[in-house]
Amino acid sequence: MSAKYVYFFGGNKAEGDTTMKNLLGGKGANLAEMVRLGFPVPPGFTISAEVCKYYYDHGRKYPEDLKEQVVKAVKELEEVTGKEFGSPENPLLVSVRSGAAISMPGMMDTILNLGLNDATVEGMVKATENPRFCYDAYRRFMQMFGDVVLGIDHSFFEEQLNAVKSEKQVKLDTELGADDLKEVVRRYLEVYKKAGHEFPQDPWEQLWKAIDAVFGSWMNERAIKYRELNGIKEGELLGTAVNIVTMVFGNMGDDSGTGVAFTRDPNTGEKQFYGEYLPNAQGEDVVAGIRTPYPLTKLGEIMPDVYKQLLDIFVKLETHYRDMQDIEFTVEKGKLYLLQTRTGKRTPFAAVKIAVDLAEEGLITKEEAIMRVSPEHIETLLHPYFLPETKQNATLLAKGIAASPGAASGIIIFDPAEAERLVKESGKDVILVRPETSPEDIAGMAAANGILTSTGGKTSHAAVVARGMGKACIVGCEAMEVEEEAEAISVNGKKFSKGDWISIDGTTGEVFEGKLDAVKPQGLEGPLAKLLDWADEIKRLGVRTNADTPRDATVAREFGAQGIGLCRTEHMFFDEERIPAVRQMIVAKTVEQRQAALDKLLPMQKEDFKGLFRAMEGYPVTIRLLDPPLHEFLPKEEEDIKDLAEEMGLSFDELKATVEELHEFNPMMGHRGCRLAVTYPEIAVMQTKAIIGAAIELLKEEGQTVVPEIMVPLVGHINELKYLKKIIVDTADSMIKEAGVELNYKVGTMIEVPRAALTADEIAKEAEFFSFGTNDLTQMTFGFSRDDYGKFVGDYVAKGILEVDPFQKLDRDGVGQLVRMGTEKGRATRPDLKVGICGEHGGEPSSVEFCHLVGLNYVSCSPYRVPVARLAAAQALLKNK
Ligand code: PEP
Ligand code: MG
Repeated sequence: MSAKYVYFFGGNKAEGDTTMKNLLGGKGANLAEMVRLGFPVPPGFTISAEVCKYYYDHGRKYPEDLKEQVVKAVKELEEVTGKEFGSPENPLLVSVRSGAAISMPGMMDTILNLGLNDATVEGMVKATENPRFCYDAYRRFMQMFGDVVLGIDHSFFEEQLNAVKSEKQVKLDTELGADDLKEVVRRYLEVYKKAGHEFPQDPWEQLWKAIDAVFGSWMNERAIKYRELNGIKEGELLGTAVNIVTMVFGNMGDDSGTGVAFTRDPNTGEKQFYGEYLPNAQGEDVVAGIRTPYPLTKLGEIMPDVYKQLLDIFVKLETHYRDMQDIEFTVEKGKLYLLQTRTGKRTPFAAVKIAVDLAEEGLITKEEAIMRVSPEHIETLLHPYFLPETKQNATLLAKGIAASPGAASGIIIFDPAEAERLVKESGKDVILVRPETSPEDIAGMAAANGILTSTGGKTSHAAVVARGMGKACIVGCEAMEVEEEAEAISVNGKKFSKGDWISIDGTTGEVFEGKLDAVKPQGLEGPLAKLLDWADEIKRLGVRTNADTPRDATVAREFGAQGIGLCRTEHMFFDEERIPAVRQMIVAKTVEQRQAALDKLLPMQKEDFKGLFRAMEGYPVTIRLLDPPLHEFLPKEEEDIKDLAEEMGLSFDELKATVEELHEFNPMMGHRGCRLAVTYPEIAVMQTKAIIGAAIELLKEEGQTVVPEIMVPLVGHINELKYLKKIIVDTADSMIKEAGVELNYKVGTMIEVPRAALTADEIAKEAEFFSFGTNDLTQMTFGFSRDDYGKFVGDYVAKGILEVDPFQKLDRDGVGQLVRMGTEKGRATRPDLKVGICGEHGGEPSSVEFCHLVGLNYVSCSPYRVPVARLAAAQALLKNK
């Protein structure tokens, strides 16, 4: 038997179903499923995505059997509809649309009203008795076909349409009569000729050319870019399917219309129907944002029965698919048709609320709820917003439709390509301002901080895409006039040009003059807190935070951190009050001088540690000894050296000599980490005293027990750790003995030099815990300088040499092997060895999964990524059950 390429649906039977998304695309699979469920769907058929793969594998040729299968499906369509393809009496018209397994809104081509020609249009006039409508459909088809299939610039068509309008002295398309539109059609035939084409009168030729165009659009620039931006790899999908569906018309009068609806609010996640309806219009009018639609309730006023039927279908669809649905529908002369259902895109905020609500409603399990939210999206939930007082003091320019929440400021840029360039090359903050957006603009949208458009509704392109990106967006800001040519906007009697600052609040739709400061939200609440509690119940990995101050530690606790995995003590040294003592320590010529400076620092460090211990309420706190090269604490510029020398009572030459002495060609591999304490053991003594002293005082004064974990950085050889551990233990034990208290503490090490990972079994003889410093470990494994790799990593990623920046996402095959080996070797010596990670990777979902797989005890990351890591840790377990 030959392979099956075409899947029919209609007349209460469907050859496909919702499980066949890979083959039929999301749209085709769901149309088939809806037919199976008995919902009103215009009949049609889907050419499978396998044909797309074949098409590209065979130099844009189709499998031999395809033609026959398409002819057969059209026959079936004729039988079900009682119409005939190409008939001048009762013509069958179809739409031809793309549809891949993953929805790519607006990225590929669509052709409507196919089957119209000089003869069939007359047949349609007879059937509808509405010549104006038929000639409008015909001219729209000619325009779409010319543009999409033959690449004739649509401005040539617009020119002719406008010419007829001005000759008739009318402003709107709707004011043109049937004869005027006939004239437009005549002129469109000329446009084809001028462009070197002949408009194909044969519907079969139209159909095959349209199919070619849809398959061809899989590889158009914007589709490729969309896949790139959304992490869809080439080859991951077979390609697009093609859906050929009987046309239904929403523009046949006031008892017709078209709409888009969500079964829950895609912005807030509230359980309420949400959507837009445009009477007497075709779907394109809504999506393009040309006319501003009414809320869905309008349909209830016009046709209450249809509205009721629709709401009933919403509930059934949501229960069937067990998720919020995004539905396109058309009403043709009072009869409802569903054109599409798919899992609705939603804001990160709504994603969390919907997942939690669905679990509480019993439609999905808690585990499913956890898997439905992307950890990256959680981060955007903790994203900036404007304080009410900030807004009160700002100048409100206008209010548009709040399309995607969040606060953003930037300079006004009109050209998406320019926005992309400015952000990439000079890190500018940009707000992309446009009349409306289209799929060509997505790279500029991705680069901008926020998006503002003057037309369109909540389901317009700008709104849908921005929500997917989790970016602040306002649409339909009609008070704003965009003068694209002049690169300016006028709003509220004021004019702003390219480069002027504005701010937008995508949560409320408010547009403000100038640059407003946004704040990050604090704390977790509501559904997010609940989802993360569920994640905590499931996950095995602990989640700690990297925090250097009591404030950071408190934020991290609120976000659910179960301890501090890394306190970089040097950050405390940069404090204004302390830096003089730190510098005295560095320029000291004798041990006594250095000790005097350290004596000044000791009480300050002790207070810091007390604050940290207090904030962590008994959770473990890992404190790392001083790590960076000392030159970082001294000025570089001559002027600054002069000033500091004066301040310190040194001569300029003396201080300059110290600065020069500390200069290193490669400081990241230089005199830093444990090497500092090997040279200056008194620094380690002071820090140990501060840590243990803080713990003793807290125990005595406040009755709070802590188990400090003292961590030695950059160890590569067991003897480095042996040497320092003795100093730490001697200092700590004598203090504890003297204080007469019982206090446990641990001494461990970072594993961030490859040699440490290779000899981890040796190192574990001394180390009571390990923490992988994957920033340095990545640096030294790749040999990429942490400070300089930014110059070339972009080329590596662009050329596919590396899939991603390895400092962002842990390189499982290389650095990851050292992590695995280090853990296994360490535990071979000390089976109960506690192992964590505190490099930046600790808050990145894929790296968190790797840590789970390797069997680490915890990950540690910055406070704002703690919620991300909690969810990622639970997902890691569920994915790898
Ligand atoms: C690391 O190297 O991964 C680490 C956490 O230490 P730092 O970034 O401070 O060098
Ligand atoms: Mg490090």
